[in-house]
Amino acid sequence: MSLFNKKCSWFNMTGNIDVAQYPEYFFYGAVRLDLSSAIRADINRQHFTVVPRHWYIDAWFICKECHEEFCWGKEVQRFWFEEAGTYVWARPSLCRDCWLKYQERKQLQKRYNVLIGKSLKSDSPVGLKQEMLDTINRLEELSTKSLPEQIMQNRQALMNQLK
Ligand SMILES: [Zn+2]
Repeated sequence: MSLFNKKCSWFNMTGNIDVAQYPEYFFYGAVRLDLSSAIRADINRQHFTVVPRHWYIDAWFICKECHEEFCWGKEVQRFWFEEAGTYVWARPSLCRDCWLKYQERKQLQKRYNVLIGKSLKSDSPVGLKQEMLDTINRLEELSTKSLPEQIMQNRQALMNQLK
């Protein structure tokens, strides 16, 4: 057998030539792949060290938050790896809805961290206290676990001040 046999060549080990030979480690954790959806990637736009992603392929994963199956579509992959500059090994762990909720939670948590001290001061504006209260309530809505004790205590303090 020739050393240059396609099956042995480095290019094919990276799945460059044949999508059916595409290494599944790029989709590690996926419950299924639709190889017929495969589109060519522009590897010059990707961030990688050794092996680029040669193909984008519709792939289905289980969301870590809601445990529903979701599709990580080829066009989303193209966006991640060619527009957003995401490193080629990345894979999604959340469905779109859970990801949006996660982003909102992060924003609210940031706002809480910055403003909670100020809003608890007795002379701070009522509007700020109310906003902080709304922020905490929304955080609670978005959280799967109960909020930390400290946040609950601060909410109670704000409610007392707003009476
Ligand atoms: Zn989800």
